[in-house]
Amino acid sequence: MSDVRSVVKGHTGEWEVVIGLEVHAQVVSKAKLFSGSSAAFGGDPNAHVSLVDAAFPGMLPVINEYCVEQAIKTGMGLNAEINLMSIFDRKNYFYADLPQGYQISQFQRPIVGEGYLDIETEAHGSLRIGVERLHLEQDAGKSLHDQHPTKSYIDLNRSGVALMEIVSKPDMRSAEEAQAYMKKLRALVRCLGTCDGNMEQGSMRADINVSLRRPGGPLGTRAEIKNVNSVRFMGQAIQYEIERQMEILEEGGEIKQETRLFDATKGITRSMRSKEDAHDYRYFPDPDLPPLVVSQDLVNRLRASLPELPDQKRDRFMKEMGLSSYDASVLTTESEKAAFFEKALTHLSSKDQKASKLLANWLIGEFFGALNKDGISISESKVTPQRLASLINLITAGTISGKIAKEVFVDMWKTGQEPSQIVKEKGLEQVSDDGAILAVIDSIIAENQDKVTEYKAGKEKLFGFFVGQVMKQMQGKANPGLVNQLLKKKLSS
Ligand code: ADP
Ligand code: MG
Repeated sequence: MSDVRSVVKGHTGEWEVVIGLEVHAQVVSKAKLFSGSSAAFGGDPNAHVSLVDAAFPGMLPVINEYCVEQAIKTGMGLNAEINLMSIFDRKNYFYADLPQGYQISQFQRPIVGEGYLDIETEAHGSLRIGVERLHLEQDAGKSLHDQHPTKSYIDLNRSGVALMEIVSKPDMRSAEEAQAYMKKLRALVRCLGTCDGNMEQGSMRADINVSLRRPGGPLGTRAEIKNVNSVRFMGQAIQYEIERQMEILEEGGEIKQETRLFDATKGITRSMRSKEDAHDYRYFPDPDLPPLVVSQDLVNRLRASLPELPDQKRDRFMKEMGLSSYDASVLTTESEKAAFFEKALTHLSSKDQKASKLLANWLIGEFFGALNKDGISISESKVTPQRLASLINLITAGTISGKIAKEVFVDMWKTGQEPSQIVKEKGLEQVSDDGAILAVIDSIIAENQDKVTEYKAGKEKLFGFFVGQVMKQMQGKANPGLVNQLLKKKLSS
């Protein structure tokens, strides 16, 4: 029971939440998995459909090698074993948007085997989540029910588009962990260029398997929530599902193994169908496709071509800039954040660790804080990487203090203005002139002779009082280091 990370409390005792994710990620590729038609998003209905995608009799699938390479690269990013021989199977089921009557997928021998993904959580720091497999499969078409009062139409544009299904082990224990996993996976595929990670367009979607058990006990029966297409919805769906299952279990009921749908407008999950088992699909090797064999040469070449991955970036940020593991992870688990940080770094006038660290602190604290508060994304913010770097430059150059910088940032956030302009217009420059500061110090000392006596008698705590008075009189604009230094000298004389 020692490895129980977190529990939820019910009336009858504690429960442990168990979550496993199956993520469908659309492969970045011009053409589909087994045909040459365009895999582009959108387009007029049925504009991207070949005879293969429409499953005309006698048509033969031909594997798109580029999609295979993309899957292998993703497997490498998942620290997984790459299988040099894998098999394509037919997964048989009937649906109007599946003219073949089966989906070509991989069952017993996927192209990528076991691996893992490290995630960073606030509650438990760094956690390693196991990955069961990654396999390649075809997407299905789409039924359109809202085009005609009595008829449904079928759009086969997506039919045959390559998907990677990435199956995790049931290693996650909370909504926070599942969300961190999804974000990390998204950062990884975006970095690799193997999936655009665009969840709203459906390029990446999660089937969330949730079950409850007594802490450390045997696995409970799971419900699967299909096709959740935003990280926020994932959190809501899991939360709802935990409550629902707990209520049933606490009343002595049983969880049905079923597939559920998340209703984003109501924030609830609804039963869609009881869950099929693998044998219901009657999987068998597709006789149209020979075993997929990849050479060790190709694997080596792909490995050599990998870009710097999020974890490597995290380690580099820690080593080069002295960032904590948590801060470095926050900056690298979302590709937009890492890109913003790296862009801003190029605009820093000082290249030393201190400046980079200051930038990281500002980004994580003020900037991400403001994004959260307004509920907007980086691309919607008015503060550009260059301008945030300019603000840091003003601090490191001693033009403004950190405290004033927070004021300037509030203005930048609203207007997107250049920080130096705000400082100039509002007269916020830091005063680093000995004479001006000394004049204020002298007047404060004159007005507080009683406190000066106490201080000299040993009440050293009063030093802060004097600093505060000077800063107050100078509207926070005095150089704090200089104030300290000059005050010490004056008070000890
Ligand atoms: P499928 O959904 O295709 O029938 P699997 O048995 O491979 O297949 O499981 C799919 C997902 O469900 C995996 O991500 C796995 O980690 C997760 N899972 C399996 N058992 C449980 C469980 N008891 N609770 C939560 N998740 C589970
Ligand atoms: Mg499943």
